[in-house]
Amino acid sequence: MQTESSGSKPAPQNSAPKSTEQSLYEKREKIYPREVHGRFAILRTLSVVVLLGLFFILPWLEMGGRQVILFDLPARKFHVFWLTFWPQDFLLLAFLLMLGAFSLFFFTALAGRLWCGYACPQTVWTEVYLWIERKVEGSRIKQMRLDKADWSLNKIVRKSIKHFIWLFIAGATAVTYVSYFTPEIVLTQKLFSFQLGGWELFWIAFFTLATYINAGFMREQVCKYMCPYARFQSAMFDNDTLIISYDEKRGEPRGSRRSDVHKDYKKESLGDCINCTMCVQVCPTGIDIRDGLQYECIGCSACIDVCDDVMDKMSYPKGLIRYTTQHAIDGEPSNILRPRIFIYFIILILFTSLFIFYVSQRSSIGLDIIRDRNQLYRETSGLIENIYTLKLINKDEQDRTFDIKAEGIDDLILLVDKTTILVEAGTVYDLPVRLRAKEDNLSGRSTEIRFILSVSDDDDLSVTEVGKFLGPIQ
Ligand code: SF4
Ligand code: SF4
Repeated sequence: MQTESSGSKPAPQNSAPKSTEQSLYEKREKIYPREVHGRFAILRTLSVVVLLGLFFILPWLEMGGRQVILFDLPARKFHVFWLTFWPQDFLLLAFLLMLGAFSLFFFTALAGRLWCGYACPQTVWTEVYLWIERKVEGSRIKQMRLDKADWSLNKIVRKSIKHFIWLFIAGATAVTYVSYFTPEIVLTQKLFSFQLGGWELFWIAFFTLATYINAGFMREQVCKYMCPYARFQSAMFDNDTLIISYDEKRGEPRGSRRSDVHKDYKKESLGDCINCTMCVQVCPTGIDIRDGLQYECIGCSACIDVCDDVMDKMSYPKGLIRYTTQHAIDGEPSNILRPRIFIYFIILILFTSLFIFYVSQRSSIGLDIIRDRNQLYRETSGLIENIYTLKLINKDEQDRTFDIKAEGIDDLILLVDKTTILVEAGTVYDLPVRLRAKEDNLSGRSTEIRFILSVSDDDDLSVTEVGKFLGPIQ
């Protein structure tokens, strides 16, 4: 049976299907977010001012003669306000990391992407860069026109000013960041006398470039393609998590309307959305919240503010876009206090308590035993000898005089240049020691011994560390 019309040309049986080339990478369209005003914009500005203020001011503050926050890598000490963390406090660092992770889980499960919208450095610095762009190049429309226009003196001047300020902020950010590792005063002196070290120069250049590129050019690309949190946060979301959402039931069918019918629009079968696209124009990631929850949404609330403004102007109730939950949107009761919130909260409390307990129990002195790696033991004067280096740690803010003793084997002999040692505040003293014991007194190939470090003028302050004394196989 003939199925094709006589005029059509049948396709050859073995002709290859037409291939369409698909790029793996989407071409970036520059986003020009419209300026927005409103209660959430005020909150975001406040958050930016407080966080940036803290970031830039903290390295200039001193407490007890030192910078309040200083990660002193050469001395292997982290100073955070009144606390000093040593390598021995690794457990504390683990608690802190767990605290940070569970805080993120807790707040994300409770209120969505609060961190991304208000506190993430990428958001904070991008906000600042956007503000400068608006001040120098003008509103969104003016920026778009300027980018499209041919190069002119006006364009060169505006672009140069903008990039100069951006670079200045990036440089200030980088210097401040490095000053958390090299004291700010020292760093500033070195900077202005051109005496910066190689590593300092490298990190300043690195962070200048990173800030300039991330906040000036990549912006939402960092959130969309580089940030792992955007990818796994959906695992912490459920139908009771606070999300920013467009009320589809109320808004649809969307459509523009004549001013004479806008109060009576329901008769024309229209929803509350007037399709002004303002929510899209203010979005820093360029998405349309009306398409539903998307991983690109950083929860900045700009669309809430602008839509509330539109609703006000139309004399419609606010909240067409609002913080809500999926259950509320579906007309079901929301349950904010659900089991996962309690579990995250309990874990948070647990780690906070452990952290406080560990800090309160921490001794202000410490002792590390390092065995001589060249020789397990040696025989000298008819005795077995082991060699160690003891690290005497004074974590206190005042100098301490230490006494050192060893025990655990009968007639154990401690050979050391001095048994009473002055260790300066916040320093570590390396003390080489030798222990000698009779072979008959050893309990085997390896015998447990104890070094006791005590403070000369404080009987209650001492630490005991257990070590091994090695001898021949008996
Ligand atoms: S701002 Fe509000 S009214 Fe305008 S398009 Fe967006 S949702 Fe609709
Ligand atoms: S959709 Fe709304 S909340 Fe989400 S990023 Fe865009 S403007 Fe911000």
